[in-house]
Amino acid sequence: MSDCIFCKIANGEIPSTKVYEDDLVLAFNDLEPQAPIHVLIIPKQHITSCDDITPDNSAVIAHIFEVAALLGKQFGLTNGYRIVNNCGEDGGQTVKHLHFHFMGGRQFGWPAG
Ligand code: 5GP
Ligand code: ZN
Repeated sequence: MSDCIFCKIANGEIPSTKVYEDDLVLAFNDLEPQAPIHVLIIPKQHITSCDDITPDNSAVIAHIFEVAALLGKQFGLTNGYRIVNNCGEDGGQTVKHLHFHFMGGRQFGWPAG
């Protein structure tokens, strides 16, 4: 997707602070962190949102959660962390490339905050 900012981050056109990368996924610091640790984990392949996950592309989702577990250990978040996905307009998704917010380093409220 030529006009997608996260595709541009994935291919290096837009710089980011990477915390993890492999062939399938990239994890980088959020520009406006909402917690001491706020990383976005994205598939390198463009998938618009959670609503576009199919049997053909869902393997990367399992991998994203493997990476999340790795990040938890990498950041020493032994007391836990939060993973958030905003899906579509009502879900509050602003960037239309599937991403999971990985947040840690503070206590979170529920359902928001
Ligand atoms: P959403 O609201 O779609 O769930 O989350 C989009 C996230 O992307 C926001 O937390 C926002 O701060 C982050 N973001 C938007 N543009 C950029 C960017 O160019 N670089 C980085 N690192 N984060 C971005
Ligand atoms: Zn994209």
